[in-house]
Amino acid sequence: MTHRCRFCAAPLSRVLVDLGHTPLANSYVAPGTPAPDPAYELCARVCDACFLVQVADAVPAEAIFSDYAYFSSFSTGWLRHCEAYAGAMAQRLGLGPASRVVEIASNDGYLLQYFVQRGIPVLGIEPAANVAEAARARGVATEVAFFGRATAERLRGQGIAADLMASNNVLAHVPDINDFVAGVPLLLKPEGVWTIEFPHLLNLIELVQFDTIYHEHYSYLSLLFVERLLAAHGLRAFEVETQPTHGGSLRVFACHAGAGHADGPGLAAVRAREAAAGLDGPAAYDDFGPRVERVREDFLAFLRDAKSRGKAVAAYGAAAKGNTLLNYCGVGTDLIAYVVDRNPAKQGRLLPGSRLPIHDPAKLYETRPDYIVILPWNIREEVMEQNLGIREWGGRWVTAIPGLDIA
Ligand SMILES: [Zn+2]
Repeated sequence: MTHRCRFCAAPLSRVLVDLGHTPLANSYVAPGTPAPDPAYELCARVCDACFLVQVADAVPAEAIFSDYAYFSSFSTGWLRHCEAYAGAMAQRLGLGPASRVVEIASNDGYLLQYFVQRGIPVLGIEPAANVAEAARARGVATEVAFFGRATAERLRGQGIAADLMASNNVLAHVPDINDFVAGVPLLLKPEGVWTIEFPHLLNLIELVQFDTIYHEHYSYLSLLFVERLLAAHGLRAFEVETQPTHGGSLRVFACHAGAGHADGPGLAAVRAREAAAGLDGPAAYDDFGPRVERVREDFLAFLRDAKSRGKAVAAYGAAAKGNTLLNYCGVGTDLIAYVVDRNPAKQGRLLPGSRLPIHDPAKLYETRPDYIVILPWNIREEVMEQNLGIREWGGRWVTAIPGLDIA
């Protein structure tokens, strides 16, 4: 079967990395469920025409979204990031009671609440009705809908026009990326600004972050690609900021192609970094697979060695990226006894595929493992600070990406 690019429809012949067949990363399993868990192809391909890195829709969208039962557990660090964003944007754009801020995929109002606090009118657009209800309960006006051209036309018909639109970590999760972006110019005022945040493909490639690849994450975005995407819909980027979130993210500022916003210095800087890394040619993508294989070999060698020495190994963080790592490496309870997670909704269940049982973090202090593998490496420092007690029994921290590290 020939796969076609979800942006430009060119045939996809270049593979970034083939991670085999794995279960859906967020489909936590109830104990007693017969194995094996349903698995789907997970292969990231690169479009030679537009350089969008993408995974195919191997899974019906209903299978992904039907299980959207609990709210994202936002860390305090992420909420601080959002509050700072609201303050900076309100000042930069001079937002006030006559303005309107629209967020696409607004969840429980975690971001828009900071604009509401400043007396700035908002509208959240959120597909999950129960999540939208939680947003309304905290005073964030929210429309239950998937965003795209049709939703934008309907809201425009109701007189909605945005001075600021925000989408954080949603563009990469949209199957029909063209329909999604086509909705933006319909709602954006002539001088309005759309900010888009996404994990930067350049970090994925340079830091071997292959575990951020999973089925629900359709697109892996560079500025190079995003500028083409914007241009196809009458928009343009005029500034870019780098953010430390999610292992290195970009915040792109976009506007109508004919708007008056002058280009900021970040735009040229990130363009230059991507050009230096060769993201506009095949070479930057072709050696990724072998680098991923090396991570797997080193991680498995460590786990097998620990086992042969009679050492106990546990893991921290039942996150999506952990599932990609464990399943690609073929790790199960023979090599890692269990994983702990602070989210009570996950405790008592099993990770899909690897079937590691999920416990409360207190389990670490009861069983005192010799090694604890931090699966969401992006919160490594936070986890280590919160668990200084493991040093009492000589416990050590392990991360597998970008390379094996034992601290
Ligand atoms: Zn393409």
